[in-house]
Parts: sequence; C-alpha cells; structure tokens
Amino acid sequence: MSGFVNLIGYPLKHSVSPYFQQEALDYYHLDVCYQAREVRAEELETAISRLREAQHLGANVTVPYKEAVMPLLDRVDDLATLVGAVNTIVKRNGELWGYNTDVGGFVEALKARGNFDVGGKKAIILGAGGSARAVGFALTREKISSLLVANRTPERARVLVKELGHYAAQTGLETEITVLPWLALASARTFADCQLVVNCTPVGMKYSSGEGQSPLAGNVIPEGILVYDLVYNPSPSPLLQLAMEAGANILGGLPMLVYQGAASFKLWTGREVPVDLMYDKARQMLMEGNK
Ligand code: NAP
Repeated sequence: MSGFVNLIGYPLKHSVSPYFQQEALDYYHLDVCYQAREVRAEELETAISRLREAQHLGANVTVPYKEAVMPLLDRVDDLATLVGAVNTIVKRNGELWGYNTDVGGFVEALKARGNFDVGGKKAIILGAGGSARAVGFALTREKISSLLVANRTPERARVLVKELGHYAAQTGLETEITVLPWLALASARTFADCQLVVNCTPVGMKYSSGEGQSPLAGNVIPEGILVYDLVYNPSPSPLLQLAMEAGANILGGLPMLVYQGAASFKLWTGREVPVDLMYDKARQMLMEGNK
C-alpha cells in the first residue's frame, strides 16, 4: 500500500493528527504519507477533486469543512448522512466515499476514558456545529433520557433539536430533547440535575479567538458531574481547569480525537489499529507543543 492521506481543514496549526496517524502508518511500514493541507474555502472543491488522482487513498476533513464536503463526494454513508457531517473520505474504485467517525470516537472515549454510562442520564451540549451534531446523535442513539442544546446562535440549536427529535421519534426513543437558552448557562440551577456537560464549541482552543477562555463559569459547575471538553489543546482546557476546581470529573478531547482517527485509519488501511501507540504519540506531541 502506498500513497497519500490528506488532512483538509483551516487552520491546522493546532492539529496533532498528522503525528499520530503517521506513527500508525509507519508501525505497519506502509509507504503512505499523512499530510496536513490547509485549504481556504475557495480552494475546497479543487482540493477534493485532487483526491481522485491515483496517489491518494483518502482524507480526514476537519473544521470548518465537514458539512461543505458532502456534495463534493460520490457517496456518503448512512451515519454521516444522518449527522450531516463527513470527517473521513475513502477512495474506493476511484469513487470518493464519505464517513463520520466522530460519533463512534465520542462514544468510545466517553465509555472507555470517562467511565460514563449514558442510559437514563441528562446532558447539556454547548454548541450546534459539526461536532455538536455528532455528539447529539451519539447521545440520542445511546439512549440518553434528556438532552439540552445551548448555542450562541439560537436558530442553529433549534434546527439541531428538531432533527434529533425526528430521529428519536423514528427510532422509537423517548428522549426529551430541548433548546436551552445560551444565557441560562450562567445559572447554577441549569446544571442542578444534569450528569454530563459536553463543550462542542472551540472556546478555549489554543490559537482560536477564544484561547484562554471558558464557555462556563466555575461557580455553575456542580460537584461530581462529568465535564467533557472536545477541545484537546491545551490540556487541560480552561473549562476543564475550572471543572476540576469545582470538584467535577473531567474528560478532554484527546481520547475522542484518537478514537475517531483510529476508525479512519481502519477505513483507509483495513488493518488492526495500534490505538495505544497513536494515543501515546498524540499526547507526547501535545505536551511538546505546550512546553
Ligand atoms: P463548528 O462546526 O465550526 O461549530 C462551532 C460551534 O461553536 C458553533 O455552534 C458556534 O456557535 C460555537 N462557537 C464558536 N465560537 C463561539 C464563541 N466564541 N462563543 C460561543 N460559541 C461559539 O466546529 P466543530 O467542528 O463543531 O468543532 C468545535 C470544536 O470541537 C473545535 O474546537 C474542534 O477542534 C473540536 N473538535 C474536537 C474533536 C475531537 O476529536 N476532540 C472532534 C471534532 C471537533 P454559532 O452557531 O453561534 O457560530
């Protein structure tokens, strides 16, 4: 097996995916190079059509193109269609197929690293973008009993809640799914009977405009709940720092990043995934970047 796998997004300076994906490819001595390609919006169509050239095996797609790539592909699998976002492209017989491995990566990390059993719980999601969509469908599918979605732009939260409600109804799930006003996040009462909060916004992410900030104040976070921040750089994020101080349990975004990446690796190569190796490399690169 030889060729290239691209990471397509903008910006990509913060990403550790090239390091841990290359580590796994090298583990199998594959002649495959995983390369980060910063792509501006106006270049996206060209970047995707280049994947059709013989040397390309596929790609990862990240912020902000997970939704925008969908019409540029030949096929999109059922889960990615449901979620409305593609983070993995695989070339099969010259065709570009789209998948979503964020859903599985999120759940695997929640169970394996967060020791959290979703059934019967109440959760709050911050954000309504690509990753919030994956998290919303994942939690609904895993039979969460109550789900609240808060987003800075309320209309996007309303759209997501409506779609999740349809999905729950179609699949016979009795999940209570509602919009939570963004301003309600300032009140401790909002979190009183909730067991899980997931930050799906980039607030706190290194190199972003929200670097150093937390989407929640520390005094609203109850003791004992799980605060899961998809932001993985810095580690811990400002939100997780406050959550720790409040006595909450915490889970950062790195395990999800590695699990979703591991599932992508399996799709491109068909090989067993050296997950621990990938995780160690990702953590090492993150720590080196934060020195
Ligand atoms: P996205 O599709 O661009 O959505 C971003 C969301 O964050 C939107 O809901 C947006 O609200 C909200 N937001 C942005 N800036 C905000 C601010 N200053 N205050 C409040 N809300 C704000 O991005 P995404 O793909 O969902 O990614 C979100 C974050 O998750 C990124 O940091 C990404 O790196 C991380 N992520 C991590 C993993 C992982 O494996 N750990 C996987 C996927 C994503 P509006 O609708 O109001 O704009």
